[in-house]
Amino acid sequence: MDTRLARNKLTDLMAAFTGYVGKHLPTDVLDKLAELRAGETSPLAAAVYDSMFENLAAAARLDRPCCQDTGAIQFFVRAGARFPLLGDLAGILTDAVRRATIEAPLRHNAVETFVEKNTGDNTGSRAPWIEWEIAGSGDPGQDEAVIEVYMAGGGCSLPGQAKVLMPAAGYEGVAAFVFDVVASYGVNACPPLLVGVGVSTSVETAAMLSKRAILRPLGSRHPNPDAARMELLLENGLNRLGLGPQGITGNATVLGVHLESSARHPSTIGVGVSVGCWAHRRGTIRIGADLSHEVLSHKEASL
Ligand code: SF4
Repeated sequence: MDTRLARNKLTDLMAAFTGYVGKHLPTDVLDKLAELRAGETSPLAAAVYDSMFENLAAAARLDRPCCQDTGAIQFFVRAGARFPLLGDLAGILTDAVRRATIEAPLRHNAVETFVEKNTGDNTGSRAPWIEWEIAGSGDPGQDEAVIEVYMAGGGCSLPGQAKVLMPAAGYEGVAAFVFDVVASYGVNACPPLLVGVGVSTSVETAAMLSKRAILRPLGSRHPNPDAARMELLLENGLNRLGLGPQGITGNATVLGVHLESSARHPSTIGVGVSVGCWAHRRGTIRIGADLSHEVLSHKEASL
Protein backbone atom coordinates (compact mmCIF):
# COMPACT_ATOMS: atom_id res chain seq x y z
CA MET A 1 0.00 0.00 0.00
CA ASP A 2 1.17 3.52 -0.82
CA THR A 3 2.69 5.09 2.35
CA ARG A 4 0.40 8.11 2.30
CA LEU A 5 -2.69 5.93 1.91
CA ALA A 6 -1.49 3.63 4.68
CA ARG A 7 -0.89 6.61 6.97
CA ASN A 8 -4.38 7.94 6.31
CA LYS A 9 -5.92 4.51 6.87
CA LEU A 10 -4.20 4.06 10.23
CA THR A 11 -5.08 7.62 11.29
CA ASP A 12 -8.75 6.96 10.41
CA LEU A 13 -8.70 3.70 12.36
CA MET A 14 -7.09 5.15 15.48
CA ALA A 15 -9.33 8.24 15.44
CA ALA A 16 -12.39 5.99 15.24
CA PHE A 17 -11.09 3.67 17.96
CA THR A 18 -10.19 6.54 20.30
CA GLY A 19 -13.68 7.98 19.92
CA TYR A 20 -15.20 4.54 20.43
CA VAL A 21 -13.28 4.01 23.66
CA GLY A 22 -14.75 7.26 25.00
CA LYS A 23 -18.28 5.95 24.45
CA HIS A 24 -18.13 2.26 25.33
CA LEU A 25 -16.57 0.54 28.32
CA PRO A 26 -14.51 -2.61 27.74
CA THR A 27 -16.33 -5.91 28.16
CA ASP A 28 -14.46 -6.95 31.32
CA VAL A 29 -15.40 -3.70 33.09
CA LEU A 30 -19.06 -4.05 32.07
CA ASP A 31 -19.11 -7.63 33.36
CA LYS A 32 -17.56 -6.58 36.69
CA LEU A 33 -20.00 -3.69 37.15
CA ALA A 34 -22.88 -6.12 36.51
CA GLU A 35 -21.42 -8.52 39.10
CA LEU A 36 -21.10 -5.74 41.69
CA ARG A 37 -24.64 -4.56 40.94
CA ALA A 38 -25.97 -8.10 41.42
CA GLY A 39 -24.20 -8.41 44.79
CA GLU A 40 -25.17 -4.98 46.11
CA THR A 41 -27.56 -5.02 49.07
CA SER A 42 -27.95 -1.27 49.65
CA PRO A 43 -30.95 0.02 47.65
CA LEU A 44 -29.30 3.41 47.16
CA ALA A 45 -26.05 1.89 45.93
CA ALA A 46 -28.01 -0.46 43.64
CA ALA A 47 -29.82 2.55 42.18
CA VAL A 48 -26.47 4.23 41.48
CA TYR A 49 -25.23 1.12 39.63
CA ASP A 50 -28.48 1.15 37.65
CA SER A 51 -27.94 4.79 36.73
CA MET A 52 -24.43 3.89 35.49
CA PHE A 53 -25.93 1.30 33.12
CA GLU A 54 -28.62 3.76 31.99
CA ASN A 55 -25.88 6.30 31.33
CA LEU A 56 -23.89 3.77 29.28
CA ALA A 57 -26.97 2.77 27.27
CA ALA A 58 -27.75 6.44 26.55
CA ALA A 59 -24.14 7.09 25.50
CA ALA A 60 -24.31 4.18 23.04
CA ARG A 61 -27.75 5.19 21.73
CA LEU A 62 -26.86 8.86 21.31
CA ASP A 63 -23.27 8.13 20.17
CA ARG A 64 -21.78 10.34 22.86
CA PRO A 65 -19.00 9.94 25.43
CA CYS A 66 -20.10 8.03 28.53
CA CYS A 67 -18.49 10.63 30.84
CA GLN A 68 -18.11 14.35 30.24
CA ASP A 69 -14.45 14.09 31.20
CA THR A 70 -12.95 12.28 28.22
CA GLY A 71 -9.57 12.55 29.90
CA ALA A 72 -6.04 13.12 28.76
CA ILE A 73 -5.37 10.59 26.02
CA GLN A 74 -2.54 8.15 26.65
CA PHE A 75 -1.30 5.42 24.31
CA PHE A 76 0.70 2.35 25.30
CA VAL A 77 2.22 0.87 22.16
CA ARG A 78 3.78 -2.58 21.87
CA ALA A 79 5.07 -2.82 18.33
CA GLY A 80 7.26 -5.24 16.43
CA ALA A 81 10.41 -3.87 14.82
CA ARG A 82 8.92 -4.47 11.38
CA PHE A 83 5.55 -2.87 11.97
CA PRO A 84 5.03 -0.61 8.95
CA LEU A 85 4.72 3.12 9.75
CA LEU A 86 6.55 2.60 13.04
CA GLY A 87 8.65 5.73 12.49
CA ASP A 88 5.51 7.76 11.80
CA LEU A 89 3.33 6.24 14.53
CA ALA A 90 3.70 9.09 17.03
CA GLY A 91 2.51 11.59 14.41
CA ILE A 92 -0.33 9.27 13.35
CA LEU A 93 -1.57 8.88 16.93
CA THR A 94 -1.36 12.65 17.49
CA ASP A 95 -3.37 13.30 14.32
CA ALA A 96 -5.85 10.62 15.41
CA VAL A 97 -6.41 12.45 18.71
CA ARG A 98 -7.02 15.74 16.86
CA ARG A 99 -9.54 13.99 14.63
CA ALA A 100 -11.26 12.15 17.49
CA THR A 101 -11.54 15.42 19.43
CA ILE A 102 -13.71 16.83 16.65
CA GLU A 103 -15.48 13.71 15.43
CA ALA A 104 -16.28 11.87 18.70
CA PRO A 105 -16.31 14.63 20.07
CA LEU A 106 -13.93 14.67 23.05
CA ARG A 107 -13.68 17.41 25.67
CA HIS A 108 -10.64 19.66 25.32
CA ASN A 109 -8.39 18.47 28.13
CA ALA A 110 -4.87 19.59 27.16
CA VAL A 111 -3.71 22.75 28.92
CA GLU A 112 -0.18 23.66 27.87
CA THR A 113 1.82 23.78 31.08
CA PHE A 114 3.44 27.18 31.85
CA VAL A 115 1.47 28.73 28.98
CA GLU A 116 -1.76 27.90 30.85
CA LYS A 117 -3.85 27.83 27.69
CA ASN A 118 -6.03 25.01 26.49
CA THR A 119 -4.71 23.86 23.11
CA GLY A 120 -8.27 23.04 22.03
CA ASP A 121 -7.49 19.71 20.37
CA ASN A 122 -6.18 17.43 23.16
CA THR A 123 -2.64 17.63 21.80
CA GLY A 124 0.34 19.62 23.03
CA SER A 125 3.83 19.00 24.30
CA ARG A 126 4.01 15.27 25.02
CA ALA A 127 0.25 15.08 24.53
CA PRO A 128 -1.00 12.56 23.70
CA TRP A 129 1.37 10.73 26.06
CA ILE A 130 2.87 7.71 24.29
CA GLU A 131 4.69 4.83 25.99
CA TRP A 132 6.65 2.44 23.77
CA GLU A 133 7.57 -1.20 24.08
CA ILE A 134 9.28 -3.36 21.45
CA ALA A 135 7.28 -6.55 20.93
CA GLY A 136 8.52 -9.98 19.98
CA SER A 137 12.00 -9.86 21.43
CA GLY A 138 13.99 -12.58 19.69
CA ASP A 139 11.75 -12.28 16.64
CA PRO A 140 13.11 -9.50 14.43
CA GLY A 141 10.37 -10.26 11.88
CA GLN A 142 7.56 -9.25 14.25
CA ASP A 143 5.39 -6.89 12.24
CA GLU A 144 2.21 -6.19 14.22
CA ALA A 145 1.37 -3.66 16.93
CA VAL A 146 -0.91 -3.78 19.95
CA ILE A 147 -2.04 -0.33 21.04
CA GLU A 148 -3.79 0.48 24.31
CA VAL A 149 -5.79 3.69 24.43
CA TYR A 150 -6.44 5.07 27.89
CA MET A 151 -8.48 8.12 28.82
CA ALA A 152 -7.01 9.51 32.03
CA GLY A 153 -9.83 11.48 33.64
CA GLY A 154 -9.07 14.22 36.15
CA GLY A 155 -10.94 12.59 39.03
CA CYS A 156 -9.39 9.18 38.58
CA SER A 157 -5.88 10.57 38.01
CA LEU A 158 -6.12 12.69 41.16
CA PRO A 159 -5.45 9.94 43.76
CA GLY A 160 -2.27 8.75 41.99
CA GLN A 161 0.81 8.74 44.22
CA ALA A 162 4.25 7.19 44.39
CA LYS A 163 6.80 7.01 47.16
CA VAL A 164 10.01 5.18 48.03
CA LEU A 165 9.69 3.31 51.31
CA MET A 166 12.51 2.31 53.64
CA PRO A 167 13.30 -1.37 53.05
CA ALA A 168 12.13 -2.38 56.53
CA ALA A 169 8.64 -1.13 55.64
CA GLY A 170 8.20 -4.41 53.78
CA TYR A 171 5.04 -5.50 52.02
CA GLU A 172 3.08 -4.24 55.04
CA GLY A 173 4.34 -0.76 54.13
CA VAL A 174 3.14 -1.24 50.56
CA ALA A 175 -0.31 -2.26 51.80
CA ALA A 176 -0.47 0.68 54.24
CA PHE A 177 0.43 3.10 51.43
CA VAL A 178 -2.28 1.67 49.16
CA PHE A 179 -4.87 1.95 51.93
CA ASP A 180 -3.84 5.53 52.78
CA VAL A 181 -4.16 6.62 49.14
CA VAL A 182 -7.50 4.93 48.51
CA ALA A 183 -9.03 5.89 51.87
CA SER A 184 -7.90 9.53 51.54
CA TYR A 185 -8.59 10.23 47.88
CA GLY A 186 -10.47 7.30 46.38
CA VAL A 187 -13.85 8.94 46.83
CA ASN A 188 -12.81 11.65 44.33
CA ALA A 189 -12.34 9.07 41.62
CA CYS A 190 -15.93 7.85 41.08
CA PRO A 191 -15.79 4.37 42.66
CA PRO A 192 -15.83 1.45 42.21
CA LEU A 193 -12.13 1.82 41.48
CA LEU A 194 -9.58 -0.20 39.63
CA VAL A 195 -6.47 0.16 41.78
CA GLY A 196 -3.08 -0.38 40.15
CA VAL A 197 -0.07 -0.93 42.40
CA GLY A 198 3.52 -0.87 41.18
CA VAL A 199 6.40 -2.18 43.31
CA SER A 200 9.89 -1.39 42.09
CA THR A 201 13.06 0.58 42.98
CA SER A 202 12.16 4.23 42.48
CA VAL A 203 9.16 6.50 42.13
CA GLU A 204 9.03 6.67 38.35
CA THR A 205 9.35 2.92 37.76
CA ALA A 206 6.80 2.13 40.48
CA ALA A 207 4.42 4.78 39.11
CA MET A 208 4.63 3.50 35.53
CA LEU A 209 4.11 -0.10 36.67
CA SER A 210 1.04 0.99 38.63
CA LYS A 211 -0.38 2.56 35.45
CA ARG A 212 0.39 -0.55 33.43
CA ALA A 213 -1.40 -2.55 36.15
CA ILE A 214 -4.72 -0.81 35.43
CA LEU A 215 -4.38 -1.65 31.75
CA ARG A 216 -4.46 -5.37 32.48
CA PRO A 217 -7.78 -7.18 31.90
CA LEU A 218 -9.89 -7.30 35.05
CA GLY A 219 -9.55 -10.51 36.96
CA SER A 220 -6.08 -11.27 35.62
CA ARG A 221 -3.54 -12.10 38.31
CA HIS A 222 0.16 -11.41 38.86
CA PRO A 223 2.13 -14.54 37.83
CA ASN A 224 3.83 -14.79 41.24
CA PRO A 225 1.43 -16.60 43.63
CA ASP A 226 2.39 -14.38 46.61
CA ALA A 227 1.80 -11.22 44.58
CA ALA A 228 -1.50 -12.65 43.33
CA ARG A 229 -2.47 -13.34 46.97
CA MET A 230 -1.58 -9.77 47.87
CA GLU A 231 -3.85 -8.52 45.06
CA LEU A 232 -6.68 -10.55 46.55
CA LEU A 233 -5.97 -9.43 50.13
CA LEU A 234 -5.90 -5.78 49.05
CA GLU A 235 -9.16 -6.24 47.13
CA ASN A 236 -10.88 -7.80 50.14
CA GLY A 237 -9.50 -5.18 52.52
CA LEU A 238 -10.37 -2.21 50.34
CA ASN A 239 -13.87 -3.58 49.79
CA ARG A 240 -14.30 -3.56 53.58
CA LEU A 241 -13.92 0.25 53.43
CA GLY A 242 -17.31 0.09 51.66
CA LEU A 243 -16.97 3.27 49.58
CA GLY A 244 -19.72 1.99 47.27
CA PRO A 245 -20.56 3.34 43.82
CA GLN A 246 -19.73 7.05 43.54
CA GLY A 247 -18.61 6.95 47.18
CA ILE A 248 -22.12 6.87 48.65
CA THR A 249 -21.23 3.67 50.61
CA GLY A 250 -22.03 0.14 49.52
CA ASN A 251 -20.69 -3.38 49.54
CA ALA A 252 -17.68 -2.78 47.30
CA THR A 253 -14.91 -0.22 46.86
CA VAL A 254 -13.01 -1.70 43.96
CA LEU A 255 -13.46 -3.30 40.58
CA GLY A 256 -10.17 -4.97 41.37
CA VAL A 257 -6.56 -4.52 42.48
CA HIS A 258 -3.75 -5.30 40.05
CA LEU A 259 -0.13 -5.38 41.09
CA GLU A 260 2.88 -5.14 38.76
CA SER A 261 6.46 -5.45 39.92
CA SER A 262 10.09 -5.45 38.85
CA ALA A 263 13.24 -6.72 40.52
CA ARG A 264 14.38 -3.84 42.73
CA HIS A 265 17.33 -2.39 44.61
CA PRO A 266 17.57 -4.17 48.00
CA SER A 267 17.68 -0.85 49.88
CA THR A 268 14.37 0.50 48.61
CA ILE A 269 10.75 -0.37 48.06
CA GLY A 270 9.30 2.02 45.50
CA VAL A 271 5.50 1.89 45.49
CA GLY A 272 3.13 3.59 43.09
CA VAL A 273 -0.66 3.72 42.99
CA SER A 274 -2.75 4.56 39.92
CA VAL A 275 -6.52 4.55 39.99
CA GLY A 276 -9.17 3.93 37.35
CA CYS A 277 -12.81 4.90 37.88
CA TRP A 278 -16.05 3.02 37.16
CA ALA A 279 -15.95 4.54 33.66
CA HIS A 280 -12.60 2.88 33.00
CA ARG A 281 -12.07 3.79 29.37
CA ARG A 282 -9.33 1.49 28.22
CA GLY A 283 -9.26 -0.03 24.76
CA THR A 284 -6.89 -2.54 23.18
CA ILE A 285 -6.49 -2.99 19.45
CA ARG A 286 -4.17 -5.28 17.49
CA ILE A 287 -3.05 -3.97 14.10
CA GLY A 288 -1.47 -6.22 11.49
CA ALA A 289 1.22 -5.33 8.99
CA ASP A 290 -1.50 -5.03 6.32
CA LEU A 291 -3.38 -2.65 8.72
CA SER A 292 -6.12 -5.18 9.36
CA HIS A 293 -7.29 -4.85 12.95
CA GLU A 294 -8.86 -6.73 15.82
CA VAL A 295 -10.36 -5.03 18.88
CA LEU A 296 -9.32 -7.11 21.89
CA SER A 297 -10.97 -5.19 24.71
CA HIS A 298 -14.57 -4.75 23.52
CA LYS A 299 -16.71 -7.68 22.40
CA GLU A 300 -18.72 -6.78 19.31
CA ALA A 301 -16.94 -3.48 18.72
CA SER A 302 -17.62 -1.96 15.32
CA LEU A 303 -15.48 0.89 14.04
S1 SF4 B 1 -13.49 9.94 37.74
FE1 SF4 B 1 -14.09 8.86 35.83
S2 SF4 B 1 -16.36 8.78 35.84
FE2 SF4 B 1 -15.68 10.32 37.38
S3 SF4 B 1 -15.76 12.27 36.25
FE3 SF4 B 1 -13.66 11.49 36.13
S4 SF4 B 1 -13.56 10.32 34.21
FE4 SF4 B 1 -15.73 10.61 34.71
